[in-house]
Amino acid sequence: MKRVIYPGTFDPVTFGHIDIIQRAMDLFDEVVVTVAKNPVKTNLFTVEERVEMLNESLKDFNNVIVDSFDGLIVDHAKQVGAVGIIRGLRAVSDFEYEFQMALMNRKLSNGIKTIFLMPHEKYTYLNSTIVRNLAQFDGDVSGFVPEIVINKLKEKSKDT
Ligand code: ADP
Repeated sequence: MKRVIYPGTFDPVTFGHIDIIQRAMDLFDEVVVTVAKNPVKTNLFTVEERVEMLNESLKDFNNVIVDSFDGLIVDHAKQVGAVGIIRGLRAVSDFEYEFQMALMNRKLSNGIKTIFLMPHEKYTYLNSTIVRNLAQFDGDVSGFVPEIVINKLKEKSKDT
């Protein structure tokens, strides 16, 4: 039974994230998608909202679990019994930061491997910030995020 962990901010989840999760599911028995509780970053959605959107978007995948964590990702990976950490690589611009993180995590815990996966080309330009900005100006985000996210973005823009 090989379990991996896929950490991220997921503010909100996009089709790019889901593409990576599907690829990870092809390789491993179980994928734990874990929302980082990062008090330094200001997010549009609360951790609970991000977990809810992930759960709804991934409800048809039965070997995916959604949770959240604070602290070191390698510690959480060990806690859930994961053999590795999944990260998505969109472009060269992701590489330097991801490379540093992977090497640091290896230093912290030699047993936990980092696995990089690339999404379909059509998602290589997609990130959560672009989606949030588009939604803020009433742009059409339907090609980029699941329906629950479209609805939650609409609710947020009503609140503000
Ligand atoms: P973002 O970088 O969009 O704020 P996250 O912090 O939630 O997203 O990212 C979690 C992981 O998913 C990271 O490894 C990131 O590189 C990857 N990722 C984010 N968007 C995409 C995408 N469109 N395609 C592939 N991987 C992605």
